[in-house]
Amino acid sequence: MSESKIDELKNLEEGGLKCPQCNNLCERTEIDVEGLKVRGWKCAKCKYELLSPGALEKAYLFLQAKKHEKVKISKRGNSYMITIPKAIADALDLANHSVAEVFLEDQDTISVKI
Ligand SMILES: [Zn+2]
Repeated sequence: MSESKIDELKNLEEGGLKCPQCNNLCERTEIDVEGLKVRGWKCAKCKYELLSPGALEKAYLFLQAKKHEKVKISKRGNSYMITIPKAIADALDLANHSVAEVFLEDQDTISVKI
C-alpha cells in the first residue's frame, strides 16, 4: 500500500474526510448496505457516501452470506439439525457454543435469531 493511501485511510478513521467529488467536509454516518448498517461518511452537499475501510470488509462478508445455500436436515434423537453455512457464521462472527433463538416464522420459514 502506498504512503499516500495509508495517509488517506488514517484521515478516514480520524474523521477528517473531504468529499472526493466536491471537497466539502464529510460527516460520519451509518450507511445501509442491503440491510446492514455500517460506519461511513456522507457529504451533506452532494450526498457522496463512503464506507470506512473496516466496515467495507464487514459489508462484503455480509453480502456473501446473503446468498441462499441449501443445507440438509438431519435427525438426532428427537431433534432435527441443520448446519449454518460458514459464510453466515463469518459474517455474524458466531462463536462456538453461543446461544440462538429458533422460531417458526410461517408455514415454510424457520428463523434463527442470535
Ligand atoms: Zn460532496
